[in-house]
Amino acid sequence: MQISQAFQGESLPISFEIFPPKGDLPVETAHAMTEELAPLDPAFVSVTYSAGGSGNSARTIDVARMMKEDFALPIMAHLTCMGATKDDIDATLAAMREVGLENVLALRGDPVPGAATNDFHFAKDLIPVVREAGFCVGAAAYPEGHIDCLDFKKSIEHLKEKQDAGAQFFVTQLFFDNDCALEFLEAARNAGITVPITFGIMPFLSKAQISRMVFMCGASLPSPIIKLLARYEEDPESLRAAGIEYACDQMEGLAQAGVDGIHVYTMNQPSIARAAVARLRGAAS
Ligand code: FAD
Repeated sequence: MQISQAFQGESLPISFEIFPPKGDLPVETAHAMTEELAPLDPAFVSVTYSAGGSGNSARTIDVARMMKEDFALPIMAHLTCMGATKDDIDATLAAMREVGLENVLALRGDPVPGAATNDFHFAKDLIPVVREAGFCVGAAAYPEGHIDCLDFKKSIEHLKEKQDAGAQFFVTQLFFDNDCALEFLEAARNAGITVPITFGIMPFLSKAQISRMVFMCGASLPSPIIKLLARYEEDPESLRAAGIEYACDQMEGLAQAGVDGIHVYTMNQPSIARAAVARLRGAAS
């Protein structure tokens, strides 16, 4: 199924992001997780891509194939182009096509220090290549701007360039402040971005995790979160529960604001996906 169709129905598309099993863990370990995710009936599941270092790029395709073949889930494979040649990308797309994948999230990826840029500078250079190869193409959006781009207006212009290059929908970076996200949505629509935008939400589960996230992507931390982090500093279980509750509140608020979709960063924890679906399907009924 082409994911662009998921945004054409009546109900709010709820999708999940997962990552391939890390390190030496066999791909099969994702099977048990998928047994828990599949009954939640996600609009699609996206599988992250790691271009080097942690060595799970081929595993993206393996996991995506398993989820598609064994569970009939609509799948979107992530693909980054930083440091890749056109031949590398063509080969990866051919491998994706061979296992029947139809949807790709086309990304630049993070710069690898010292690595050559090769054939692609930005995601907008990758998008037409993926589209021409016959895939339905999504791209990344940043409600608070990308961490390397200090000018919010420029960030919106770069988003528009991705739509113009052929992106058929956007999935956003995580954020903790719905007001920022809704202001971004308005700015994007005013700039002529008409394709669906699904909003990515990741619950905070610990102080270390949220610090890492904030420094990695530049998301702002609203004071209610800082207060929760302080209140449950010595109580990790309660902090985790508060983080999931906060994320569910965010999702419900976005659903009520009429966004095109919610993309749950599950962190491979089906309990997070379950909490999200319970809240959103409850909210919708
Ligand atoms: P781009 O859209 O190319 O933007 C990169 C930077 O260049 C931005 O600062 C942008 O403002 C700037 N820029 C764009 N166009 C121009 C221009 N014409 N002139 C000047 N500057 C420009 N990373 C992974 O490695 N694997 C994953 O699986 C993965 N999944 C992700 C999923 C989502 C939903 C998101 C939001 C991010 C994901 N990332 C992933 C991270 C992503 O690779 C990084 O955020 C990366 O730094 C930017 O990728 P992009 O596709 O947004 O790049």
